[in-house]
Amino acid sequence: MAQAAEQGELVPVIGLEVHVQLETETKVFCGCSTEPAEDEAPNTRVCPVCLGLPGALPVLNEAAVEAAVKVGKALDADIPEQTRFHRKNYYYPDLPKNFQITQYDAPLCADGTLSFSHEGDRHEVSVRRAHLEEDPGSIRHVRDGTQDLDVRTTSVDRADYTLVDYNRAGTPLMEVVTEPDFRDPAEVRAFLEKLEEVLEYLGVFDASRDGSLRIDANLSMIPGSEIRDDGTIPTETLESANRTEVKNISSHKGAQTALSYEESRQENLLRRGKAVEQETRHFNETHGNTISMRSKEEEKDYRYFREADLPPLQVAHWKEEIAIPELPDARRARFRDEYGLDEEAAAKLTSRKQVADFFEAVAAEFDPSVAATWVADNLLGELHYRDMTIDDVDDRLDEFMRLIELVDQDELTVKNAEETVLRAMLDEGVAPDEVIEREGLGKAGESEVVDAVRDAIEENPDAVEDYHEGEGGALNYLVGQVMQRTGGSADPGTVNELLRDELES
Ligand code: ADP
Ligand code: MG
Ligand code: ZN
Repeated sequence: MAQAAEQGELVPVIGLEVHVQLETETKVFCGCSTEPAEDEAPNTRVCPVCLGLPGALPVLNEAAVEAAVKVGKALDADIPEQTRFHRKNYYYPDLPKNFQITQYDAPLCADGTLSFSHEGDRHEVSVRRAHLEEDPGSIRHVRDGTQDLDVRTTSVDRADYTLVDYNRAGTPLMEVVTEPDFRDPAEVRAFLEKLEEVLEYLGVFDASRDGSLRIDANLSMIPGSEIRDDGTIPTETLESANRTEVKNISSHKGAQTALSYEESRQENLLRRGKAVEQETRHFNETHGNTISMRSKEEEKDYRYFREADLPPLQVAHWKEEIAIPELPDARRARFRDEYGLDEEAAAKLTSRKQVADFFEAVAAEFDPSVAATWVADNLLGELHYRDMTIDDVDDRLDEFMRLIELVDQDELTVKNAEETVLRAMLDEGVAPDEVIEREGLGKAGESEVVDAVRDAIEENPDAVEDYHEGEGGALNYLVGQVMQRTGGSADPGTVNELLRDELES
């Protein structure tokens, strides 16, 4: 990398702070539900604790700690004997206590790693720390009667009034802070995808929940000549580089877009001899740009101090007791070994836990390579084309197995199975046998129709001659003859095609 660095070349350096909502039934310090009810009214999923009423005391949710320990183990992080909580003080209406309970000098997890693949290369990113904290509420600035979801662009001073909703307040969050190990916005996207996979395998995260993953992305540009031969960058260089922190990123794609924008914005400034301001910027998803929000806050601004309402937490024993399931990398390796799959198929089949489970269920009944082709190529391909996911067919495993069985037992052609039956199953939610019956696709049925076509041709030489002389009615007559012979069970379109094929051959 360093060798390639030309004189004057600037290289982006990126570090992330990823906020992950942990999936628990109740909030992290009270008994309120974390599950938004459908169309719930604001400020209905609240209690004195998450509203920060005077005298209300937090009680730590064991399930949140358990989930956080799982994440730590999956990141191969150090989990200390004892961890504790701090108050991070700041005044903002989404924070009813005027402080957030978080962790400071003794986070639950430190020094972890996460490896991922990007464009055929293996990358490993160091995770500096991952700690447990509470989510603030959410606010909406309203202007001319419209609630701007892009909260901080419609700044407070342009709003007529502001609404606040504490339903989200107190949802357990895990903040995962990486070292500045990324060199490319596209790497960030691949990392986030991998992180989500791991969280999903652990069963501690619901990606479909709105705002369940929120990212602050830090970027600075440094001279390529500063990168050492082994790819590392001196600490002094990292510390002295002016960086920006982009907030309000809520998707993998958004992270890449925001960082690409930031990279060229900073590069342009530096090329023109201007300085990059050390500041916090806001990502505007609609415009794909970032705008200045405020100068970067510093640690001392937050007046961290110990949360006296929560005793230090002994976690040493949990580390031993809490088991984590097989993770994506291990499962991919096993798929290669156990089922003889190639790397590409193994990767495709393990990227989501539900897909891997689905595949293994199929592979238990059929030849693994057949199962892999059906799940990885046919099913995932057709789902992708329809903007559907495995979640949409998770409960139709039996129907899918039946489809493969029909092909396996030679009752259905591969072509019909792929092109007609599977598609109808997905489009219309019908079972395979139903489609076969309706379309007359069963192989046995088909040969019966073929016989009828041959018979009709043999027994009606006049009509055949008329057909060849271009008489339009002749074909219809022959179709009628075939229908009669099959007792009307054949599909007229298919009969039409078969007749043409036979007559033209
Ligand atoms: P702060 O105290 O300002 O929050 P930290 O040292 O805690 O700064 O780092 C916060 C985030 O900034 C981390 O994700 C880290 O990887 C990232 N970071 C640190 N230095 C740089 C840099 N030079 N360029 C880009 N990101 C950086
Ligand atoms: Mg920080
Ligand atoms: Zn509550």
